[in-house]
Amino acid sequence: MPLTDWELEKYKRQIMIPGFGVEAQEKLRASSALVTRLGGLGGPTALWLAAAGIGKLVIAHGGKLTPSNLNRQILMRGDGVGQPRAPQAEETLRRFNPELEIIAYAADASEENAAEWVSQVDIVCDTTPDFRERLVLNRECWRQGKPLIDSGMNGMEAQLTAIVPPDTPCLQCLVPEVPEWWDPLGFGVLGAVPGALGALTALEAIKVLTGYGEPLTGKLLIFDAEDMSFSKYTLHRRPDCPVCGTG
Ligand SMILES: [Zn+2]
Repeated sequence: MPLTDWELEKYKRQIMIPGFGVEAQEKLRASSALVTRLGGLGGPTALWLAAAGIGKLVIAHGGKLTPSNLNRQILMRGDGVGQPRAPQAEETLRRFNPELEIIAYAADASEENAAEWVSQVDIVCDTTPDFRERLVLNRECWRQGKPLIDSGMNGMEAQLTAIVPPDTPCLQCLVPEVPEWWDPLGFGVLGAVPGALGALTALEAIKVLTGYGEPLTGKLLIFDAEDMSFSKYTLHRRPDCPVCGTG
């Protein structure tokens, strides 16, 4: 179905980008993404995907809003402390883009739900700080042949890569197991850092979904927001990787 007059007007400023055009916009409208966790990173990821005109979002986040979430979780409400987070994020996204189809789960990704959730979408953004969830989603995306935009941050540092099976190394090549140093709430966050990373995560998803530009396939972007240094590295597959290795 061609874009409506409303869609052409609403998205005209990105349609005019050379190489993007109506074709990429139509692909985006026909696309869906899973965003797991709607915190400092996943919140802006979901919001920028909604703003760009993706057709469907499956969003997931367990737990209730706490005061210390409010320095970064921009889909939540100041008066929503003590309330579940997924419905607050869903309401914000619906108000912002009423045409967007949204399925919201008030739970985190796990071995139990990952296969079902990944099967509902074209791409996954695993914007969770939990390495166990990220590795489960990586395995499931690889099994189902779905692209995965993996992003993570710690303090002022952030990293991002686009995993596209079977062409790129997978997350488990980069993180063979849950790191010993990992502590889910043991790191500082200045909200603008995951905010910037969330915008870049959405941008990579848009590029992979539409074919526009050059995504970070097989490349790892690392930036340090303290001095604004950005570096890109080439990733290599581990032959013995249990997910994507050839043995
Ligand atoms: Zn691998």
